Amino acid sequence: MKNAQKFVDKSMDSKRKANLPCQSDNKFKKTTSSDCSFESANSTIEEEGFNMPKISIVTLRVAKRDGEDFKGSLDHVQGCQVWNDGLKLPEAWLFGVSIVKSANRPFLLEFQLNCEVEVDIIPKYCKVKIDNHDYTIELIPPQDFKANIGDEVTVRIKRTRWLLKPDQVTNWMKLYGEIIKPVEYEEAPGVQRLKTDELKCVIKLAKHIPNLLPAYGRRMNVVYSGQPIQCGRCFELNHLRANCTNEQADWIKDYVRRFYEEGHISSVLLGRWFEIFKSTLE
Ligand SMILES: [Zn+2]
Repeated sequence: MKNAQKFVDKSMDSKRKANLPCQSDNKFKKTTSSDCSFESANSTIEEEGFNMPKISIVTLRVAKRDGEDFKGSLDHVQGCQVWNDGLKLPEAWLFGVSIVKSANRPFLLEFQLNCEVEVDIIPKYCKVKIDNHDYTIELIPPQDFKANIGDEVTVRIKRTRWLLKPDQVTNWMKLYGEIIKPVEYEEAPGVQRLKTDELKCVIKLAKHIPNLLPAYGRRMNVVYSGQPIQCGRCFELNHLRANCTNEQADWIKDYVRRFYEEGHISSVLLGRWFEIFKSTLE
């Protein structure tokens, strides 16, 4: 895809990169409308740039305050100051910010974006002055921050276009852990009672969830903080296409088959993917 190549071109200026989320959004809409055919199954993943290291959650560590190791915490307003004045990134990208404080981890700020951006748009490091203190902030690369099994994580199911229902998502999420907060529609930011097509729930992880799941004939895009990266070539976790040494996997013949045969996922949960898989066996 011509456009996809443009997106990864390292020479493009930052302004262009900043336009990326919208462009990629539009492109996604175009491709998903046709993703009902078997032929488009693999090419759609290519077009969506699935193998590119794009993120929709940015995790930052507050490393220092006034030169000393940081031991305190920041609130949501101060977190937004880090985003605006420290990273100098558009506020429009922000969906929300959460404060991650736990006994065995450094203090983290976690920004949920309402778009996907390439990892290298986010500065790796910045300094910011908040309430007369100098803070040093570090980006935690997504592959370095892994949720632990047993962690309670907020799982988001992106861009469902209303085609995946909460009970369907629940059936899949139950395979990966205990549901702590039920699957529900995310509220639209700033608009009372209006929902978005994004679904979310909180689950206690029994095992990690892949970014893409073949759910009910859709490609269910699952995201949570600390999720392992997934390879767009072989669909295994913990590496990206650029470092892949495995064979190119086929969405149906390899990936869907793995869920059905090795994962013992029922044909009901696979939906139309199962019908297509079955037809490849005949
Ligand atoms: Zn791979």
